[in-house]
Amino acid sequence: MNNGVDNIERMVDILSSLPTIGKKTARRLTYYILKQDLEYANNFSATLIDLVEKVHLCEVCYNFTETKVCKICESEKRDKTKICVVEDPSDVSYIDNTNEFSGLYHVLHGVINPLNNINAQDLKIRELINRLQGVDEVILALNPNVESDITAQYLANIIKPLDIKVTKLASGIPLGTSIEFSDNATISRALEGRVIIK
Ligand SMILES: [Zn+2]
Repeated sequence: MNNGVDNIERMVDILSSLPTIGKKTARRLTYYILKQDLEYANNFSATLIDLVEKVHLCEVCYNFTETKVCKICESEKRDKTKICVVEDPSDVSYIDNTNEFSGLYHVLHGVINPLNNINAQDLKIRELINRLQGVDEVILALNPNVESDITAQYLANIIKPLDIKVTKLASGIPLGTSIEFSDNATISRALEGRVIIK
């Protein structure tokens, strides 16, 4: 692995393992990096290591944070009677950027998907149930697809008997798209028009 060609191929392989990056783009990025100086590479690798070493999951909501408990969970200004449940940490920022929601979040880290062998116990569902005291509404802000619908119904069946209102986003987000690819106005409308899960 010591000759230059192998190192180039190793870098192409690593970069193309990232989502949405194909071999061609990975190669273009690799050649771009090769044109930079050593300081660029040092900064790049240090940032990568810091990211993975210092960022971990909030022990309350399971969003990414560099502190024990994240800023949203710690904030006095957030409405602690409402929890918005999302699939991925990135969804928290998409929803919070709309300024439409002032409650707390809970990240499931996926949805139930029997075909891929992902069951309820693989997600942060028990952790969600354990923090529902004093909560009067759980908003399921999951993506519009079959697996998310199964997960939403599963959660509603557990949470509703606890006398907590369970709502889901209005169907503003088109089927097959995700929160990630929706603009602020669409997410705001979906939140505002949320409906109770029967
Ligand atoms: Zn948190």
